[in-house]
Order: sequence, then C-alpha cells, then structure tokens
Amino acid sequence: MSSTPARSGRKPVFVLVGGTGDLAVRMLWPSLAMLDQDGFLDDRLRVISVARQKLSHAEAIKMVSDAIQARIGKDLQPATLDRFLKRVSHVSLDASNDQWGPGLKAALGDLDDIEVTYFLSVSPTLFKPICEHLASSGLNAEPNRVIIEKPIGRDLATSKEINDAVAHAFDETRTFRIDHYLGKETVQNLIALRFGNIIFEPLWNAQAIDHVQITVAETVGVGERLGYYDEYGALRDMLQNHLLQLVCLTAMEPPSGLSSDALRNEKVKVLKSLKPIDASNVQHNTARGQYGPGFAEGKAVAGYEAEKGSPSNTETYVAIKAEIANWRWAGTPFYLRTGKCLPSRATEIMIQFRDVPHSIFGGEARPNRLIIRLQPDEDIKLTIMNKSPGLTAEGMHLQALDLSLSLVSAFDGGNDGKPARRRIAYERLILDALNGNNAQFVRRDEVEAAWEWVDGIIEGWQRTGMKPQQYQAGTFGPMSAYTLLDRDGRSWND
Ligand code: NAD
Repeated sequence: MSSTPARSGRKPVFVLVGGTGDLAVRMLWPSLAMLDQDGFLDDRLRVISVARQKLSHAEAIKMVSDAIQARIGKDLQPATLDRFLKRVSHVSLDASNDQWGPGLKAALGDLDDIEVTYFLSVSPTLFKPICEHLASSGLNAEPNRVIIEKPIGRDLATSKEINDAVAHAFDETRTFRIDHYLGKETVQNLIALRFGNIIFEPLWNAQAIDHVQITVAETVGVGERLGYYDEYGALRDMLQNHLLQLVCLTAMEPPSGLSSDALRNEKVKVLKSLKPIDASNVQHNTARGQYGPGFAEGKAVAGYEAEKGSPSNTETYVAIKAEIANWRWAGTPFYLRTGKCLPSRATEIMIQFRDVPHSIFGGEARPNRLIIRLQPDEDIKLTIMNKSPGLTAEGMHLQALDLSLSLVSAFDGGNDGKPARRRIAYERLILDALNGNNAQFVRRDEVEAAWEWVDGIIEGWQRTGMKPQQYQAGTFGPMSAYTLLDRDGRSWND
C-alpha cells in the first residue's frame, strides 16, 4: 500500500496527549492503525503517546497493540500492526509540571523539520495548561495544529475561556474541534444527498416539509460517567453539540463550495437563526426527563438518583421544539430529543413532508417521509405511496413503501467481494486533521452560537423551576415529551 506524504514536505508527527485514556484506547489507536493499513499515513509519520502514567517502551507498545487488536483485530493484516507499532513511542509527562513542555520537546527533536498534530485527549481542564506548555516551549508554531474534543465548556462563558486558552497558542485555522458525528459516513452523505441531487432542493423548505425530527436514543444509562454527567446532563452533553450539528446540516443553505469556511459559514447562520427559548417559553418548548427504576438492555436499572445516591436535578432526557427563523424554515419546527435508558439505540433524522394538497384516495395517501439513519445501521429511506398490488372490487388502495439506500448493502461486495468495514468516525477526522483540512470540524463561532442558544434554555429552566420529570428506564421518555408534539397535532416516529 502506498503512503500519503505530508503536504508541507516536513516529517509529520502525531502527538496523542492522553494516549492511555479511554478515548485513545477505544477509538484513536484503532483509527490510526486503520489509516496506516489503508495507506493514508506518510511513511515518515511518528506517533508519540503522552500521558501521566509511567510506562516502559515495551509496556506502551503492548498497551497500543492490545487496544488495536481489541477493536479491529479481525480487520487487521499482521503486517499493519508491526508497521504501525514501529511508529509509536511513549513519554510520561504530567501536565501540572513545568517539565511537560521541555520533556515533549526533547521527544520531538528538530522542530524545523517536523509538522505536528496534537490530539488533546484529556480533560478540558488540562487544555489551558497544555496549550501554555506548548507555547512556552515553542511547540505551537506553524504549521503545527491542535485537535480538541468536547466538552468545550459547560456554557458560553466557560467555552470562551477554553477557546481563548487554545487561541493563545493556535490560531483558528490550526484549531480542530471534533464533533465525531461529523466524521460519520451518513452525516457526510447528508451533504451529498442534499447538494448532489436536484430532486430534493425544490422541496427542502417549509412549503413542502411539515416538520423535522432528530432523535439520538441510547439504551445505556450513565454508568461510570456519572460524576461528569451529573454536572452536564443531556442538553449540554448531547444536544448542544451532536444534535445541533445535525440541525445545521439539515437546515443550512447550499454552500458555495466544500471549503471549510463555505460550509461553516452556512452552519453558523442556522445556529444564529434559532429562535431563542427562555423563561417565557421554555415550558411550552422543552421537556426534561430523568430515568427512574425500570429495565434497560434486559437488566434491572435502579434509577438515576439511586445510582447517584442522592437527589439530582440533572436531566437524562431532553426534547425541544426548535424553530429556525428564516425564509426557508419559518413554520417548520425541528423537534429534537435525546435520552438514556430508552428501549432502543437509534440516531435518525426524519423529514416529514406535508400532505398532498388534494387527496383523490379518500385519505389513504400518507405524507412522504425521508428517514436518514445514522445508528445502529446507516441507511437512508424515502417512504412513498404506491398502489397496493392486485384487484379489488371497490377500486384502488394505497400502501406506503420504502425506497431504501442501505449503506450496509451499498458497501457489500467491494473489489474483493467482502463486505466493506464500517469506519470509525475518528478515522476520517484524524486524516483530515493530518492534512490540515478543518471543514468537518467545528469553528469557534459555531460552538459559541450553540452555547448561547442552550444557555437561554438552561436559564429558562432555572428561572421557572422546571425540574426533570421521571420516566421509567426502558421506556421512550417522559410524558411531557409526548405533550410537546401532541399540542401541535404531531407524534414522534417511535
Ligand atoms: P481518561 O480519563 O480515560 O484519560 C485521560 C488521559 O489523560 C490519560 O491518558 C491520562 O494519563 C491523561 N492525564 C490525566 N491527567 C493528566 C495530567 N495531569 N498530565 C498528563 N496527562 C494526564 O479520559 P477519556 O475518556 O479518554 O477522555 C479524553 C477526552 O475526550 C476528554 O476531554 C473527554 O471529555 C473526551 N471525550 C471522551 C469520550 C470517551 O468516549 N471516552 C467521548 C467524547 C469525548
């Protein structure tokens, strides 16, 4: 397999800060190895793991090798693992210590000869000290760049603090904020679907679309993330980032091209057009829930407060009626929901078209639906009305049929006849970052516009004293989420 050389001509280095952590082990090491297998990594690329843990070289290599084999062992060719592990080294450094910068500098070698991509896979509280270490040791100069992960703050003020700290070391063009949903194949495909086909655009507006539903449903509870989660809740943890990114891609105007600014300019306009939700309308436009005792994934669940061991006002479920105040979408609500301990795992965007203006089928014609599924399977389905086959004495009857673009079957039978592997979303994002392409990363003004809208909701909840309503674990969420749509004469696509 050929390799892809870095564009600057310098030798590329990928520094994985937090290389021993959960995200690195489950996602990042396997993604890097697969990029290597597919010939996307420059032959000269070195990967340096940085973490607090003191590991010998042999221990670090074993940790990386185990991580890769556990996740993608069956797709891995033996030669890949050997080749990839030769790229890897580990340095043990504590970010609370001033030796962090000099220690990493020694591991990097001649700075004029290399191009470094830093992935900060550590708690956001470490972003500031780490960026300060990078700057004070001169490790942040162009063309070096940085990748950071959510959560970027827990409100507008704290997200600005993080963004300012990172901006102190890296300008915006060299800052890559990950929302891993943007690396998913179907999310990319949404752009292809909308802007690579003429048939959707004339219908992609309030005249033809009744409403949009975006659902991210999880079957799991909070588990070991409880300490973190209790400070955040579903609105900050999922909706502020993943769901709002999906809203942007669904609602944005056609960009002038695929360049990072062309795409992101359009996305930020959507976020800025979201109608504010505050104390005056929060009870009408949002539903908050928290899972109580019940069953999820076939096991008994004690309930969120029982798991925590004390009372909590944190929502594990949120539903919102969002409205986009612009010409395209005025009058077409976007209903968003996400929650934990729900009956099935699913991420989907449902575009519900309007009724035909005049039905000649006595009410049998149902409105078309376009369903874009991201999880568990990636699939795009258009429900259309069709004549029920066969003869009937009383005339024609209709049935709804799905035109399906199943990506699972679209990927079947590659050149070698084997089903293609579904990529980890981080593979695409790491590859883009190595190539300096930040179109699929979130720009600072997007993060901040999203927080501004979300802050209004949180303040509205606080001012009105709106507490989460309990729902039984293993059910579809609180009653108030159903009332939210009932009131508008609509229902969730469960
Ligand atoms: P983790 O706690 O499992 O790992 C943290 C890493 O940071 C470890 O390698 C540890 O050695 C290192 N570290 C901690 N304190 C340090 C210090 N003082 N000096 C140097 N290194 C130190 O965390 P994680 O779950 O891998 O998450 C990493 C980042 O990714 C966080 O920002 C998290 O919010 C985000 N994230 C994680 C997930 C996930 O699935 N784990 C999902 C989305 C976002």
